[in-house]
Amino acid sequence: MPEYRTVTCILCPNACQLDVHFDKDKKEITKLENARCTRGMKYAMEEIFNPKRSVMTVVPIESKLWKVTSVLTVEPVPKDKIFEVYNEIKKMRLKAPVKRGDVLIHNVCNLGVDVIITRSVKE
Ligand code: SF4
Repeated sequence: MPEYRTVTCILCPNACQLDVHFDKDKKEITKLENARCTRGMKYAMEEIFNPKRSVMTVVPIESKLWKVTSVLTVEPVPKDKIFEVYNEIKKMRLKAPVKRGDVLIHNVCNLGVDVIITRSVKE
């Protein structure tokens, strides 16, 4: 069944407002308007049929100065897996010292993506 959505491409600062006509059953884009370059089609395909987002949050840490530190998935994960990823991260507890870039969870939820620490805490 034909559908229509407006999607903002975030691949470059132009932020084109893509008008996307698509068929969900056939998983195809039937018409794309307002893309200033060809990357818009790839972005629209992914955003319509397999949207992904990075997960950023905080994890409790035992330290002298901080109660939490920040973490991030190194790549975006499928939107429908975000709560599973949050639930895995919620189980974690840290103890200083930790370094920015340390892996908190390897291959979270078997998605092939690591969760890393984004703020060092020395003590
Ligand atoms: S469609 Fe091309 S020009 Fe427009 S925001 Fe995306 S990457 Fe940039």
